[in-house]
Amino acid sequence: MGSEESNEPTFTWTARQLASCCVWSPERPDTTVLFAAEELARYLQRIVGRDIPVAARPELSQHSLAVAPFGSNFTMPPSASPLVGFTIEPGADAIMVRGDTSSALLRGVYRLLQELGCEWSVRGRLYETVPTAATETFCLRAYRSAPRFQSVVYCSDIITWHYTQPEPLRERIVEDEELADWMAKTGATSFFFIRHPFDTKSAIEELQKSFSTRGITVEVGGHVLPTPLDRQWFPRHPEYFPLTHGGRRSETGNLCVSHPRARALVAEQAGHFLTAAGYAGALHIWGADVFGGGWCHCTHCEKLSPQEQSIVVCNAIAERLENAGVRVPIYYLAYHDTIEPRLRIEPHPMVWCEFAPRERCYGHHIGDRECGVNEHYRAALESYIQLFRGRVRAFEYYGDAILFFGCLVPIPRVIASDLATYEALGVREVSFLQFGQFSRWAYAPNFTAFAAASQGIPIGPALERLWSQWDGKAQVVGSVFADLEETMRALVRYGDVRLPPKRRTQRSDLRRALSAHLPRFTAMADELDSHRSPSLHALALLVRYTQTVFEGVAHELDTGQAADAIFSHALSILQSVDRTYKGVWGEFDLAVIHDLYKAAHLVPGWS
Ligand SMILES: [Zn+2]
Ligand SMILES: [Zn+2]
Repeated sequence: MGSEESNEPTFTWTARQLASCCVWSPERPDTTVLFAAEELARYLQRIVGRDIPVAARPELSQHSLAVAPFGSNFTMPPSASPLVGFTIEPGADAIMVRGDTSSALLRGVYRLLQELGCEWSVRGRLYETVPTAATETFCLRAYRSAPRFQSVVYCSDIITWHYTQPEPLRERIVEDEELADWMAKTGATSFFFIRHPFDTKSAIEELQKSFSTRGITVEVGGHVLPTPLDRQWFPRHPEYFPLTHGGRRSETGNLCVSHPRARALVAEQAGHFLTAAGYAGALHIWGADVFGGGWCHCTHCEKLSPQEQSIVVCNAIAERLENAGVRVPIYYLAYHDTIEPRLRIEPHPMVWCEFAPRERCYGHHIGDRECGVNEHYRAALESYIQLFRGRVRAFEYYGDAILFFGCLVPIPRVIASDLATYEALGVREVSFLQFGQFSRWAYAPNFTAFAAASQGIPIGPALERLWSQWDGKAQVVGSVFADLEETMRALVRYGDVRLPPKRRTQRSDLRRALSAHLPRFTAMADELDSHRSPSLHALALLVRYTQTVFEGVAHELDTGQAADAIFSHALSILQSVDRTYKGVWGEFDLAVIHDLYKAAHLVPGWS
């Protein structure tokens, strides 16, 4: 937990004092340190209403900055090493910020600005609060960060950038420049571009600068196992490819992991994913995104579980990269048919487990002993943590507009408890799947809770600030979101919200919950609409959309018949919502997702 050390003395700084300062940086700052210095100067300038210059000071170490008056003779206090993250050290004549890396220093700068009263918003820089009273007095205390997680990651499927279409691509990039900014301000460390077999690129290069300037690591890979083994090998070497249950080699799916040449080819190709995006800091090697699919059933592979087939490939890739002197984490995926830890093979020390409990219950937190569904996932997770000696990332779906089918699913308290459980279990990294502006609009409370909780900050005040960013109607929005949270926690307990649950008991539980909660939506939407505010009206439309989707689910449960007309009606409700709210995903992808679910109604299983 980040902790204020309460026995530390406080130092009072006035806005007038700050106005006489400049931001001191080391003599040859790297891009991120320079950006940190400039950001600090930019915001201080807005706070004190006077130009704050950046100047170099040779005695400052590589990852440190100071705020001090011109001509002051401040000395740099010795560092209480080893640092974890960053420190803020206020004194009478200087405020020092130090990080153990450039990006940690930048996080320290944003934290200092928060101490000075700045408030960030997931909705974008337009919604930030910067104190501007020239008479302001600030009480500063020493602060030492203690990150709860080694990595805090946001991710998105590359296809959602529509990179072959210039217009949506341009818009989505603008959306994510906003996300990159907010990520840095709230302590995130990495961004992961999720690739699918049909993708032709591993990352969106246009965003590279936004991330690298802020010291945010880019990660590549994803559902790529079917990709590295080039299909051109199939006619000459079908033995490289998986043998199906039916006894024939299949061109689709993963590979025959028992074939040394197939393994070597995949390892070599996977290395190219990294080099193709030369700046990538991690590689994710996941199998084909299908339940029970893609693995080999030859006499050798048959002895291996899908988990073991997957780890054999990850190990081969890790060994190859290690031999080439490349030390990046390789992520094995625990998901769908690999969620159970059926592994008798030791993972290579560079291989991490990415635990993605997509079909978990979001009505309860992952550590909730009352929830049978999550109990099962948590037990699997605990085994994985042992097997991977702690090298585990929790891959979470808190902003996944596909899983939630575009519905409002505010679950900030579930998220805060999830992160506490993940930390207590020894999970070292957490990630958050989202799809740009649409997710930052529809799942704003989830982003806010995830960002606060991952930094060890209480979520309550962060949510209060978020509610006030809807036209200043904090009370109205806060109370509607509280009602929604209660309702949605009763409904999102069984994976894809669009598909009726598979088990009979889940179906009857859901039907009961729908009877109790469906009547509540209209009052929430009407309340939002009664304030004649465009942003509250847009939110009201999303409430009505959510209601209609669940009416469709209820119809399918009751009749066993497809509720296509109801889902189409739901989609039409969002048509009039402005793109500044629903973003590229709401404009282009949501309709595609509706069609996909209509077609793939009985074949669940893509992330
Ligand atoms: Zn095989
Ligand atoms: Zn549950």
